[in-house]
Amino acid sequence: MADPMIAIGALRVHAVVESMLWSSPTVYLPEQDARVLAERVAAWTSVSFDADGRICSPVRSYAIETPEGIVLVDTGLGPGSALAASSRWRVELFPYLEGLRAAGIAPEDVRAVLVTHLHPDHCGWHTRVVDDRRVPTFPNARYVVARPEWEGWPDARPAWVDERLLPLFDAGLVDLVPADATVSPYVRLEPSHGHTPGHVCVRIVSDGEAAVFSGDVLHHKLQLAVPDEPDGTDRDPVRGVAARRAFYERCAREGVVVFGAHFEEPAVGRFARDGDGFRFDPLPA
Ligand SMILES: [Zn+2]
Repeated sequence: MADPMIAIGALRVHAVVESMLWSSPTVYLPEQDARVLAERVAAWTSVSFDADGRICSPVRSYAIETPEGIVLVDTGLGPGSALAASSRWRVELFPYLEGLRAAGIAPEDVRAVLVTHLHPDHCGWHTRVVDDRRVPTFPNARYVVARPEWEGWPDARPAWVDERLLPLFDAGLVDLVPADATVSPYVRLEPSHGHTPGHVCVRIVSDGEAAVFSGDVLHHKLQLAVPDEPDGTDRDPVRGVAARRAFYERCAREGVVVFGAHFEEPAVGRFARDGDGFRFDPLPA
């Protein structure tokens, strides 16, 4: 396993950018002028805008080398996602399985696939199409899903969820677990509901070090500066704001390393209090 991206104790974390989403900043910050906000945070981060004023959200899948095998956190948008056809987003797809291979990881090596929530840019590669059939992409893995997320869609589950996950149930590979489940001695889930009914963050611990994978409790680093603002993509806006603020406060208090799901580079760092809000301190390269 060459070029570990970052070490947390004895664990090695690799990031694979599976795709890139470009959208209006009002998708995440409906009540803010993002360019004004970007000037405000210029001391600690830079924000890229494309020619249409859109901001970028890389879609990351993280692969963690643990003593019990490879654990994935989220699997990107995947091929054939309807989201790629939506005018709300400009989407670029990158070769995902090749990205894992570049980190020395074959699909058969993966022992657990965690998902922070069931939006289409987080479970896209849970399955793939082979001979016109959807099959598990990671045949030797347990697919771990927080039960409140699986059961939390009050009407019908979105079609993409059934498409990407029902073949896994058919194969007997899914573990529905509590939102605060301990997955292994190194990995546990932390409830952060609001963005979706059962959204979770993922915490890893090893040798006294810890890190957290944010999922979509926040999308963009700009949101740190305005911690009580709604995120336009939250299913439950009130719970979303509460979960986000609690996440910021806890991360800042603990000084824990945060791996952003969608942060523009640099995507790994720590949160710190900054006036009425928070800021992002990237890890030294
Ligand atoms: Zn997302």
